[in-house]
Amino acid sequence: MFEKVLIANRGEIALRIQRACRELGIKTVAVHSEADREAKYVRLADESVCIGPASSAQSYLNVPSIISAAEVTGAEAIHPGYGFLAENADFAERVEKSGFVFIGPRAETIRLMGSKISAKDAMEAAGVPVVPGSGGALNDDPEALLSIAEKIGFPVIIKASAGGGGRGMRIVQNADELVAAVAMTRGEAGAAFGDDTVYMEKFLTLPRHIEIQVMADEHGNAIFLGERDCSMQRRHQKVIEEAPAPGISSALRNTIGERCAEACRRIGYRGAGTFEFLYENGEFFFIEMNTRIQVEHPVTEAITGVDLVQEQLRVAAGEKLSVTQKDVVIRGHAIECRINAEDPFTFVPSPGRVTQFHTPGGPGIRVDSHMYQNCTVPPYYDSLIAKIIAHGDTRAQALARMRIALSEMVVEGIKTNIPLHQELLNDPGFIAGGTSIHYLEEKLARERGKGH
Ligand code: ADP
Repeated sequence: MFEKVLIANRGEIALRIQRACRELGIKTVAVHSEADREAKYVRLADESVCIGPASSAQSYLNVPSIISAAEVTGAEAIHPGYGFLAENADFAERVEKSGFVFIGPRAETIRLMGSKISAKDAMEAAGVPVVPGSGGALNDDPEALLSIAEKIGFPVIIKASAGGGGRGMRIVQNADELVAAVAMTRGEAGAAFGDDTVYMEKFLTLPRHIEIQVMADEHGNAIFLGERDCSMQRRHQKVIEEAPAPGISSALRNTIGERCAEACRRIGYRGAGTFEFLYENGEFFFIEMNTRIQVEHPVTEAITGVDLVQEQLRVAAGEKLSVTQKDVVIRGHAIECRINAEDPFTFVPSPGRVTQFHTPGGPGIRVDSHMYQNCTVPPYYDSLIAKIIAHGDTRAQALARMRIALSEMVVEGIKTNIPLHQELLNDPGFIAGGTSIHYLEEKLARERGKGH
């Protein structure tokens, strides 16, 4: 096992990774921007290095600074967390060329999955069901576009192959809008991702977002750890996640899960990964693969008892996975609420000083947060300040525990979306389970009017 790992991230996930390292007896190096100097995980780390000013481009995305921090501290491996450089194949390559271990898949795997077009091709070839679509990049010929769209059937969605974070997508209802929509998505994709390749997919009208967690080592072992339902979204961003997905039979879970595990074996996948699917009318359709640990990984940890971050560290160190498929037994139900520093009605970010901070507890409650009383939420990064995870024997118990946890949580000085979560935990549709990806936006539009 490694002796020292550098954590190239910030916020709650930096603390989460640090905890996994400590449990395995690994020393940690925190790298941080000037804005995060006072962060809890920076103080708790064995060593810390300031890698630049507040702006992410000059700090958390500053590859030379991060590599030299690893050099001066003698770290052996770099954990990228999620976001920032986690799915940057060039970074993974630089890390390995500089003599460090990148805690994640090989650079070529990240590159393959970083293009949604090549990811879909690879998955289709490996027997994973994909959303029907153009099967490749679009050109700008109006006739060709129309013929593809008609073959797929309207509505269709135009997506950036290099897209991420819910950006670079446009729904097209009919032929009149098609050519302009392709041109606009292409322009946005070029500006946002530096790659204007776009493709077309069938727009599924009422799907759920269900994803499969996988884990693979370099000894040919690949397992799946059940699924998560992440359908509660706003602007393609997940708000609440749960595991298992309501109404999915174990037979269906095992069929789709085994296909994902088999796909991992075929492409020589290494580490933690997530196969994201849209699920409609009993069928799974692959949309993309995330080659990193995800924000919502704790719900899977709760129901399987497997520490996914520790497994990532083991696999990166060349060890075998500590669990086999047979060891993965799903117990109970878990829900995660993402607590953001934002106005619960306008969703405008609300950075600033946290004057009071009290976290909930009790049976089945886990809180992953880097906050403490009098800390500051900087305005430069994403607004996630805490994750509450509630685990129960049944979904009803997990929901009940989450309601209590939300009522106990105190955050003052900044606004948070806790009131929105409280509303959702009492919403009849959510309580029933199995809502589509449009449920939250429709609810907000209905109850708060168009400008929610
Ligand atoms: P990103 O990488 O930006 O997260 P994804 O491809 O994972 O993009 O899609 C994000 C979200 O967009 C999905 O969870 C879903 O809500 C919506 N979406 C994507 N593709 C489709 C589709 N073909 N039909 C309907 N909704 C879609």
